[in-house]
Amino acid sequence: MNKAYAITPIRTDFPTTGGCADAPVLRERGQREVFCGLTGIIWLHRKIQDAFFLVVGSRTCAHLIQSAAGVMIFAEPRFATAIIDDRDLAGLADANEELDRVVTRLLERRPDIRMLFLVGSCPSEVIKLDLSRAAERLSQRFAPTVRLVNYSGSGIETTFTQGEDACLAALVPQLPTAPAQGAPELLVVGSLADVVEDQFNRLFQAMGIGPVMSLPSRRSTDLPAVGPNTRFVMAQPFLGDTARALEARGAQRIAAPFPLGVEGTTMWLSAIAEAWGVDAEHFAQTIAPARERATVALAKQRERLAGKRVFFFPDSQLEVPLARFLSRELGMLLTEVGSPYLHRQHLAEELAMLPAGIVLSEGQDLERQLDRCRAAQPDLVVCGLGLANPLEQEGFATKWSIELVFSPIQGYDQAADLAELFERPLRRRALLSVKAA
Ligand code: SF4
Repeated sequence: MNKAYAITPIRTDFPTTGGCADAPVLRERGQREVFCGLTGIIWLHRKIQDAFFLVVGSRTCAHLIQSAAGVMIFAEPRFATAIIDDRDLAGLADANEELDRVVTRLLERRPDIRMLFLVGSCPSEVIKLDLSRAAERLSQRFAPTVRLVNYSGSGIETTFTQGEDACLAALVPQLPTAPAQGAPELLVVGSLADVVEDQFNRLFQAMGIGPVMSLPSRRSTDLPAVGPNTRFVMAQPFLGDTARALEARGAQRIAAPFPLGVEGTTMWLSAIAEAWGVDAEHFAQTIAPARERATVALAKQRERLAGKRVFFFPDSQLEVPLARFLSRELGMLLTEVGSPYLHRQHLAEELAMLPAGIVLSEGQDLERQLDRCRAAQPDLVVCGLGLANPLEQEGFATKWSIELVFSPIQGYDQAADLAELFERPLRRRALLSVKAA
């Protein structure tokens, strides 16, 4: 005889008011100090293992990604730059013809490539090279073996994590259509390190949540299908255009804080579990071992970080969820939390959990922000690479925000590592002060 069990619903009444939910935002539109969207290629080419990223840009663009990616000369890289030179800029050469030639040669040499991204840059935008038409033309020529997709990583308008948003938003029209009927599918949106993705997938499986797909997928031949039956959850906060494109195809977003720290991870998982009707007790039992391990590990770091003051310059768009983690789980004191863009809807739950009374800023006016930072005298400054050295010289401990995008930081097993990333610069500065004394 079947026994009927009552399902206890999971509580996901995350706050959306209070804290900084309605706090005034200091909007600045002055000089910015951020990397461009090409930087995203560094983690995207590792994630999509049969894709190649061809930047159509200048020698500066080539230097940027080569130095940032730390290319090993004996490895076959999966990114390159088709250099736009003086003849192209002067209109003396047909840039389209040259691009076709470069792509043909590349695909002959690298038969393993299944998806080729043509990535626009400042120079390709300046000469108005239409990469979407180029991608269409070349797709017809190389279909069905290779799919060509274009997006812009130009620094004229984008900050560095927007490169991933532009890339994924360009992929959305390529996704197959999911059947309108049947069991819902979960789509996790945003690049996560494979180890983190595997940990989450094990938890989803243990809770009976699925099928689960990822965007981006590890192989371009496994693109997830999307439609009104798709429920998607964002794993990264900088994917506004991608979310909009998915919603335009009928997918529904599961609103949740981001999976940073023990609390963020629990809330993110609980929002998904609630959408799948998982029983509250089963949920609690499934996450308990990892959650307890992470809580114990974080307690040690809290002793060392509590009471330290932190200032965020705008860079990665991870600033708000990171600030929530540092303040609520590690007891750090926030002075200013700057972000290139504040997406009010996607960050609603995060903003409500920030303490009231801090400075929230969007965009940048560099000199003014530096003055505010000097006046606040924080113990730790989170900023881009370009600002870190001058601020260290002035006596501030700094954390490079780009490291937070390159490192696996989401989920329970990474919560202590994430705290460690903020603790290390403080430890280093304390050692330097002892030596100097
Ligand atoms: S800012 Fe523009 S020119 Fe500079 S590396 Fe980025 S895309 Fe290239």
